[in-house]
Amino acid sequence: MVCPLCKSSVPENANFCPQCGAKIAEGEEPNPALIALIEQYERRLIENPKDTATRFNLALTYIRMKRWGAALQQLEILRNQEPDFPDSWYLLAVAYFGLGQREQAKKVLAEFILRFPDHPKVSELRRKGFDRIGNP
Ligand SMILES: [Zn+2]
Repeated sequence: MVCPLCKSSVPENANFCPQCGAKIAEGEEPNPALIALIEQYERRLIENPKDTATRFNLALTYIRMKRWGAALQQLEILRNQEPDFPDSWYLLAVAYFGLGQREQAKKVLAEFILRFPDHPKVSELRRKGFDRIGNP
């Protein structure tokens, strides 16, 4: 079997690609509308790699498709380009959770809460008890 994302070979019964972490969803048809969106965003980013709004939308679309590894790649670029953009921190945590990397996801969430204490997502996380991460 071949990973749909990075094209490396994957064991037959694997749920995730060991190389890039993409979810291997056998028999699950990818949504053509989302694929068209991704192509559109990728074209825009080739023309303007610093278009952070488009890169954010690309990452968001990957997340909707559960392509966590691909989302992570875009979000890491985004975080370097624009570290003060809170939503990309939040999505980064979502992508790590999707990949099953809970510890990494919690680290990102803790950092997100520290940096953006007034963000509406932070109040939501506090209600769920996430503010105690990193401060046992
Ligand atoms: Zn892969």
